Amino acid sequence: MPLSRWSSRHKKTFGKKKEKWDGNFRLPPKPDSYYTQTKGSCRWCGKVILKEDGTINTRKSWHEECATEYLLIYHSGEQRAQLWNRDKGKCNHCGCENRTWHADHIKPLVEQKHVKEKDLDWSYYSLDNLQTLCKKCHRIKTNSEVKLKGKRKPVYKKWSK
Ligand SMILES: [Zn+2]
Ligand SMILES: [Zn+2]
Repeated sequence: MPLSRWSSRHKKTFGKKKEKWDGNFRLPPKPDSYYTQTKGSCRWCGKVILKEDGTINTRKSWHEECATEYLLIYHSGEQRAQLWNRDKGKCNHCGCENRTWHADHIKPLVEQKHVKEKDLDWSYYSLDNLQTLCKKCHRIKTNSEVKLKGKRKPVYKKWSK
């Protein structure tokens, strides 16, 4: 179940025509199933949605866990809500608890820049790749990423748990 409100905005996107991906690596292209015109088929994973009795639920177009995953990527409010739910604002690096925490991608999303659509690594967009950092630690990490830019060694190794 998504933590943020599953708004009617998402219902309005049902049956939309597929658009070409604009190449923005922060918002990866949606799967073909997202553009389905068929009810009862999940717009994220493309599989059928079943009722408890095993028949197809034609009133739904999302599995709950798929909606959760989808919103994590495309809805920054949901991203923060899920991260807060897991970390409660505690910095993953120094352990401090601060009201102004930052959501950080352990493996920087920018590494997906210039990657072809079919080669995108979806693990970059998962909750496992997100961590809570305090302002100070986030700044240090961002600075070290800028310094390492262009070098081969991925910076995130230092930062993963
Ligand atoms: Zn699904
Ligand atoms: Zn910290």
